[in-house]
Amino acid sequence: MSSLKEKIYWKMPGFAKNWLASAQARKLDRQRFGPDYDRALEEIAAHDKWTAGQFVEYQNKKLAELVRHAAANVPYYRRLFADCGIEPGQIKSTADLHRLPILDKATVRRNPESFVDENLKKSQLVILHTSGTTGTPLKIYRDTKLNSAALAYFDGRCHAVAGMQRRINRSVSIGGFLVAAPERTRPPFWVENRRWKQLYMSSYHLSPRYLGHYVDQLRRFGGEYIEGYASSVYAIAHYIADNGLEPVFFKACFTTADTLFDYHREAIRKAFGCETFNQYGCGEMAVFAAECEQGAMHLSPETGFVEVVDDTDKPVEPGQTGNLICTSLINFVQPFIRYRVGDRGALRPGQCSCGSPLPMLGDIEGRDDAVLMTADGRKIGRLDPIFKGAEGIAEAQIVQDDYDKFIIRIVPGKDYTDLHGKTVAQNLRHRVGEADISIETVETIERTSSGKFRAVICNLK
Ligand SMILES: [Zn+2]
Repeated sequence: MSSLKEKIYWKMPGFAKNWLASAQARKLDRQRFGPDYDRALEEIAAHDKWTAGQFVEYQNKKLAELVRHAAANVPYYRRLFADCGIEPGQIKSTADLHRLPILDKATVRRNPESFVDENLKKSQLVILHTSGTTGTPLKIYRDTKLNSAALAYFDGRCHAVAGMQRRINRSVSIGGFLVAAPERTRPPFWVENRRWKQLYMSSYHLSPRYLGHYVDQLRRFGGEYIEGYASSVYAIAHYIADNGLEPVFFKACFTTADTLFDYHREAIRKAFGCETFNQYGCGEMAVFAAECEQGAMHLSPETGFVEVVDDTDKPVEPGQTGNLICTSLINFVQPFIRYRVGDRGALRPGQCSCGSPLPMLGDIEGRDDAVLMTADGRKIGRLDPIFKGAEGIAEAQIVQDDYDKFIIRIVPGKDYTDLHGKTVAQNLRHRVGEADISIETVETIERTSSGKFRAVICNLK
């Protein structure tokens, strides 16, 4: 949306915005939820009955196909294979992937078009600008088929875990939607799309001043599930719990994009009376994982193959944490082969008690620049335990300025006392050693330009 269009849109009355959202949905219906979407959903359902071995076979076949396609039709890879002296036929299975170099985001950012299949008309592709948590934009191209597949995986492998589906069940989404002008000070901070039974709420107006309006609107709307950035959904849940309000009941909550902490799940359980299912993926469609009812993050192997490497790009043992390197097996529009997605995580060996044949990711530590660093080179992610025993905190952010210098920014909840701040500082000290830790209580914690919350900011290079 251009800024002029944006300004006109923001000035429109609520009912007109709702009408526009539904009209737009009508236009996009066939493109997004047409035959491609139906076919992808059917395939996903059929694959759910596969064995682990069948997924491995499928991945090898798709990878060989992808490499042949990239070498023939994608300028960047044609050059790369020539430069490396690699014949596409040499990459027969995922075990051969190590012959190819790891691809960094910076390389894509320099010339995103050189990654696009040259047979496709760029004017007919959908462009997505993903900003990631750090706000550096990247241009992603998709065709309508890939877009439909992305929606199908979300429905078939994430929403389906709780028996939910887009457009069938009424839903509330809270993410980076620019549905209200940033300076807006009265409701609505949301737009309703009646056609798809969706309510889109702004993640930019979640201040205690307006949260009461959000809660009222949630009660009025009567959604069956709620989804969005973990920090945004949590902000509303915490407000409900903190003010002793009646719960707003949902059947399920799905979170994505920023880190989901255990205290988020707890607040959501209290305020919305439901469980939270976390999802992990990226706009490049190089990886997709969603939580099952047993709390395991199951990968969708059809979307991508995941490797984990250490900081020198050597593979680590299964179960060990490192940098995620993903090869998309579904994105033939703009192929990403051995792509450093910028997150840290682990593969989880073994089988899940839920009975799913899908492989698993272990803990996702989050962005590789969203972990704390120690002087001896350790990276500390998974900061969940730091918030144990500090229930009075509405929200917190840890800023690291040096190996032994930290600031904890805290938005106090109703029951907050200094003791809660001290507990968090003490918990942090247990992990990073002796350090200068100061606590700042603040009214709000600033979001990124895309509305995401950063739990950790590490200013060390
Ligand atoms: Zn499972």
